[in-house]
Amino acid sequence: MPSPPPSIFTRIINGEIPCHKVYEDDKVLAFLDINPLAPGHTLVIPKEPAPTLDKLSDVSAAAIGRILPRLCRAVMRATGTSDYNLLQNNGAAAHQEVMHVHFHIIPKPGGGGSQGLGIDWPAAKIDHTAGAQLASAIAAAV
Ligand code: 5GP
Repeated sequence: MPSPPPSIFTRIINGEIPCHKVYEDDKVLAFLDINPLAPGHTLVIPKEPAPTLDKLSDVSAAAIGRILPRLCRAVMRATGTSDYNLLQNNGAAAHQEVMHVHFHIIPKPGGGGSQGLGIDWPAAKIDHTAGAQLASAIAAAV
């Protein structure tokens, strides 16, 4: 079976498409989002072309986890923002458009404006009986 075409992010990693790079090491690249929700909106991606986080190797996951807090600090310092969201979408139904793992660092400027991530959070009370069963099932699957 032919392999899928490289994602737009793989093409950015390979230098075929330009980006505003903010960080690079042998496993990770970070650059500005081309359609920012707020100034400084940054994407952090592994060089490994995993489509979703659950498919990412431990080595790449560790490399991203090591650098993410530092990149968050840098984005906040450069934009003069103290609040931000970290967003990571997996799958089309979860609003993932580019099928290559990426973390969004999205500054949330104060002042009540509309910049930054807007969140609809349709929370409900937990059902403790079902919750206990689900927690056991998830724990067994880890
Ligand atoms: P997703 O919805 O998959 O979590 O987010 C994908 C993000 O990638 C979007 O915010 C979109 O603006 C960004 N993006 C898509 N294509 C490009 C591109 O060619 N360059 C850059 N810098 N960002 C891109």
